[in-house]
Order: sequence, then structure tokens, then C-alpha cells
Amino acid sequence: MSLRYKSTRGQKVFSLSEAIHQGLAPDGGLFVPVNFPLIDFEKVKRGEQALWAFANYCLSPFFIGDPLEKSLPEICKKAFDFPAPLKKLNQNTSVLELFHGPTLAFKDFGARFLAGCLSASGVEKTILVATSGDTGGAVASACYRQPGLQVVLLFPQGRVSYRQEQQLTCWGENVRSFAVKGSFDNCQNMVKALFNDPQARHRFNLTSANSINIARLLPQMVYYAQASWQFFEKEGKCPSFVIPTGNMGNAVACFYAKRMGWPIDRIALSTNANKTLCRFYDTGEFIPETSLKTLANAMDVGCPSNFERLRNLYENDEELKKDSTCSSVTDQEIKEAIKEAYEKYQEVFCPHTATALQMRKQLDDGPWIIVSTAHPAKFSEEIEPIIGGTVSVPADLKNLLDKEKAFEVIEAKPEALLAALTHH
Ligand SMILES: *Cc1c(COP(=O)(O)O)cnc(C)c1O
Repeated sequence: MSLRYKSTRGQKVFSLSEAIHQGLAPDGGLFVPVNFPLIDFEKVKRGEQALWAFANYCLSPFFIGDPLEKSLPEICKKAFDFPAPLKKLNQNTSVLELFHGPTLAFKDFGARFLAGCLSASGVEKTILVATSGDTGGAVASACYRQPGLQVVLLFPQGRVSYRQEQQLTCWGENVRSFAVKGSFDNCQNMVKALFNDPQARHRFNLTSANSINIARLLPQMVYYAQASWQFFEKEGKCPSFVIPTGNMGNAVACFYAKRMGWPIDRIALSTNANKTLCRFYDTGEFIPETSLKTLANAMDVGCPSNFERLRNLYENDEELKKDSTCSSVTDQEIKEAIKEAYEKYQEVFCPHTATALQMRKQLDDGPWIIVSTAHPAKFSEEIEPIIGGTVSVPADLKNLLDKEKAFEVIEAKPEALLAALTHH
């Protein structure tokens, strides 16, 4: 029997491929699996195995009966070609490092998996992305030189950091970058306008790569599954996770892994000063707000889009709260957590990961696994003054920083984007 997908807002079912190509469901909801396959522990291999092979085992039930089923091993081989090591920090705390991919953040897993799915489907696609920083770089890197894929990146001119701009503009070939004379919201509105224009959508075969796409979410289950399984085999206990959270894509994947039966105890969500999610945990009301700018900028989200998936997963809020908690961390606390970890363990953490370090202090013995979402070198300008030392830059980032930049500047209007696409 093939696994089906439905919208969080309706009962009509779709295949996985349909859900991937549409991105957002026609009724405006998010695609979710109709049911969760349970793992058969008899069949899980004991001991170490390559991450891609583990990914193939973990994800195969979600691909059954879909045109992409045959391609899954190949997609996993390409997407999971870097490790996600689990390291002990102290007695009851470990760190899961998700930043060993080409753009040094966990988004590499989802972006590379999605690119693999789109490319394997064999249909020519133009992926349109508005980005305020990290997502665009991960998508560009993932799609670069992938057959059948064109990437168009929009970023607000002069409003991304030097390193972020480099990661958005150093590609060429099938990746085009546009610096928009406006804000991130302008970029997003231009993308939306083109998606809402059936003629443009059809003509360029537009698709989206943002974090609501189910093909970015599913692969993120893999590292939670593997880390919890490894931990359980070694220590005989189910670990809990502390996850730095913004749009909740990473966190929802952990809830999904737990639902499959992987040995995960509780899930703690650490946010920055943006408190929409924490208020929900406190009051039961979900009230979106405009986002605040913080040190952990990839988590500056006032309306977490994957919240709808989380709510859909549980019968009621009480059940959800039995499994999970949420805590908001200020910029001052982020700085203190970075400094403290450096002094205590001689380890440098990025500002996003620091929210989880801070939240860990309020939690019980656990054992807890802190999810480390980005390499600190991506944020050296913020981190170096805090620790009073330098952060060394890994080879991958050095290579990117040395490449030549190329981008076009356009007005913040949908017509300008349409003209630029047409003239290519
Ligand atoms: C995107 C991002 C996050 C937040 O992840 P969500 O899935 O949006 O909750 C956290 N840390 C880093 C470094 C990120 O790039």
C-alpha cells in the first residue's frame, strides 16, 4: 500500500510526488502524511552504518508506491554524503552536529534532498527563492549543476551579511542571483506574485524550495532517528532533544521521528526573543506577531509556518504538552551561553545553538541532546567579541568565500522579476 499525503486543512489525498511539486496544498494548508509508518526494530541494523543507508531505511516507508520510490537510494546517497556526529558535552548532555554540509547549516540536508527529488522526477523546473540569509545559500549549493533545475534567488540588496551574500552570489551556471532594491518582505511578495500568476507559473514551471515543502521536512527525521537509536544502543536510555526553533521545520521532523517509534523521550524547543510559540505553550493561544531582529537571525520568525503541522499531529494541546516544552532566550542570554560554553568546554557554538544551551540549564537530568544547527564560523563577527578569540574557518566556507560574485540588481517589483526571467 502506498503512503498518502493530505493537507492540514482537508481530507483529499495526494501522492508524495504531487505534494513535493505543489509545495503548498491547494487549500492553503501544509502537506502531512496520512499516517505514520511504525519502525520494525527487528529490521533495524545494529551498530554503525553509513548515514545515507540509514536514511534510506528510515525514509523508504514514506516513498512506497510513489514514482520516486526507485530513486530513493540514489537521492539519499547524494543528500546524506556528510556526517551528523553525536558528541558528548558532559555527563547528561550530548551535542548533535548538523553543520558539516557544504553551507555549514542543517538546512543542507533538506535542501539537498529536495533538489534530488526534483531532479529525479525528470521535469524541468525553475526554483524561485526569496531569502534573508541561510536558505538561499543551501538551495543554491544543493541545486548547482543539477540536471533540469534552474535556481533564481532574490535577496534584499545590502541587507544580508558579507558571508551570506557570498553564499548567494558565487554560483553562476544554473543559479541566478538578484539583489532587490527593497526589503526581504518585498522579495517575498515578488515571489508570491509570480506564483499567483498562472501564466508565469506555467511558462517557467515554477516551484518553491521553502521549508514548508514536505521533501525538506522528511529527510530531517533521519538524524533524529539515527542519533536516538545510537544513543539508545550505547546507553540503554531514550534521549530527549533541545532544538533551536524558528519556522519549526527542524522541530516538527523530530516529532515525526518520535511518532515513528524512534527512541525519543521529550522535545524541548528553544526560541530567541520571538515569543509566539512560547506564548502558545503558556496560554494555549497562537497569535502571530511581527518578527524581532535578534542575534540568532535564522530564527527571527513571528509566525512559525510549521506550527500547523505540529497541531495536526496531536489530538489536543494537552497531549502535545506532555511531550514537549518551549522556552524563549534573550540576546543577552545567548551571549552568556556562548561565553560560558567556551570557558567551560573550550567549545564555540553559534548563536542559534546557544539558545538550546541556555534552555538545557533549566531542564532535568535527561539525558538531553542539544541540536547544533550551524557552524560558528558563519557567525564569527558576532561570536569573536564574545569569546575574545578567533573562530577558524572550515575549508568549504573558505572556498566559497574565495569565489567570484555575480548578481543582477532589480527593482522591487514583480514586473522587474518577470522581465529578468524572460530575457534569459
Ligand atoms: C533555519 C535555522 C534555524 C531554525 O530552523 P527552523 O526549521 O526554521 O525552526 C535554526 N538555526 C539555524 C542556523 C538555521 O539556519
